[in-house]
Amino acid sequence: MRLRMKPIQEIYSLLSQPRKVVVTMHQKPDPDAMGSSLALANVLTQLGHQVTVISPTNWPEFLKWMPGAKAVIDYESAREKGNKFLDDTEWLFCLDFNALHRTKHMAAKLAEIKCLKILIDHHEEPETASFDYGISLTSKSSTSEMIYDFIVDSGHESLINTDVAACLYAGIIGDTGSFRFPSTSPAVHRMAADLLQRGLNHTAVHEYLYDNFLEDRLKFIGHILLHRMEVLYEYNTALIAIPKSDLIKFNIRTGDTEGLVNYPLTIQGIRLSGLVIDRDEERKWSFRSKGKIDVNTFARKYFNGGGHFNASGGRSADSLRETVQKFKKAMIENASQLQ
Ligand code: 5GP
Ligand code: MN
Repeated sequence: MRLRMKPIQEIYSLLSQPRKVVVTMHQKPDPDAMGSSLALANVLTQLGHQVTVISPTNWPEFLKWMPGAKAVIDYESAREKGNKFLDDTEWLFCLDFNALHRTKHMAAKLAEIKCLKILIDHHEEPETASFDYGISLTSKSSTSEMIYDFIVDSGHESLINTDVAACLYAGIIGDTGSFRFPSTSPAVHRMAADLLQRGLNHTAVHEYLYDNFLEDRLKFIGHILLHRMEVLYEYNTALIAIPKSDLIKFNIRTGDTEGLVNYPLTIQGIRLSGLVIDRDEERKWSFRSKGKIDVNTFARKYFNGGGHFNASGGRSADSLRETVQKFKKAMIENASQLQ
């Protein structure tokens, strides 16, 4: 097995020769995963490559406006079609995930195919042995920022049209909480300025992402903040546990729960927020923190997950009640870190 990926820069000189390319991302893609993938696909297509974008699962309604999204294959519902492209591809770009299991039902196929595999990602602890080339920088705000760097560093910045700019901008505002998280470096603002200069309509992107829900979703938020949130001031922690019945009652769809985990952090003093949703096959956790509270390690240690220092996720096969109890136990175990 390979131990080290070769640096991404070694790909640049190979970009001029047309290839069959598949670009993929983590399951249940967010604005960064989908935006970075569609931006890269757009630029590679302009360079003459034959590009297909495959998502491991479906994606939220609020990403459907993205230029190129209509052609994305949903592997979960079109596995055979996806396999045809995967079996035939020469290159596979893996964006915004650190380990093949983050592509769920597609992971075994990605491990099996023998094409050149390239990782571009910003999550902790990448599974580098799975990739031939790549770059993994946890200091980067988003994979979209890394795709911007890839395009510019490889000498193709003239290919950043307004479609590419909109996708990349969606990715950076998604992953930086609209320029507020600590990962928002001067380079991120310079990138945003450059995208604006190239004709980006930034207001439209914000509206597509954040003003694009149904009434049900807003009522659902009201309901869960009132009835499903527990604030544990002693531990500077808040917890939201959502039973399946709430999802059914409010017609909750993929993407409707995105961002909910951030609400408790708006309460004075709250520095750790946990959100758990009772999904059919598992209980899915999201964690967010402020400052020195490391939720990547927390998710890895207690909930079979991972992610970033201040934003992570995990899962559990326990019941909702049991997994909430486990969270509280873990919180007490880590009480000193939470002060
Ligand atoms: P979210 O809470 O938005 O689902 O995820 C927050 C961050 O943690 C994202 O960067 C996501 O990629 C990562 N993440 C979410 N769930 C998991 C998981 O089960 N395993 C790992 N390794 N990372 C996760
Ligand atoms: Mn990301």
